[in-house]
Amino acid sequence: PTTLELPDFSLVVLIGATGSGKSTFASRWFAPTEVISSDRCRGLVCDDENDQSISADAFDLVRTIAEKRLKNRRLAVIDATNVRASERRDWIALARRWHALPVAIVIDPGLDICIERNKLRPDRAFGPKVPQRMVQEIRKGLRNLAHEGFRQVWKLSSVEAVDAAIVTRKP
Ligand code: ATP
Ligand code: MG
Repeated sequence: PTTLELPDFSLVVLIGATGSGKSTFASRWFAPTEVISSDRCRGLVCDDENDQSISADAFDLVRTIAEKRLKNRRLAVIDATNVRASERRDWIALARRWHALPVAIVIDPGLDICIERNKLRPDRAFGPKVPQRMVQEIRKGLRNLAHEGFRQVWKLSSVEAVDAAIVTRKP
């Protein structure tokens, strides 16, 4: 099993398609106050966690909370799909501004798993095309993550790898 040894002062960027298990992984390994969820922020500004049209407001909120935490030297976890390099660029810049370590955790249990899991979620009633596009985009950018500026890159590429992973902190 992989042990993800994270510096205490990290900005952790989860990367994974919808249904991959990001929020589940985050709640297992991080305190609720450490995890900043784009869906949660979407809900805070418009009462509908699935309203994609207010993404800009929701992401402003994610960024603001993350920045406040980093300013206070607190670890933060960005729980969003973070599929594109253009989305990840902002997080790397934010981490650098506050001298936090940008860490990428890629959660990729496979497309079929994402599709199957989303079938069981009443709030994720979209077809397989959505996670399919996400998985493709993520895999395309995988080799470039270190080059993007992530100082640690962890890839969990099977259900077993995700479930067996252990997250630790070091001062
Ligand atoms: P989204 O991007 O849509 O928010 P997500 O990546 O946060 O998706 P989760 O909400 O964590 O995905 O998980 C999706 C579904 O899969 C949930 O119903 C969850 O219970 C289940 N699930 C997640 N991780 C696991 C796991 N390791 N083993 C079994 N079921 C899991
Ligand atoms: Mg989630």
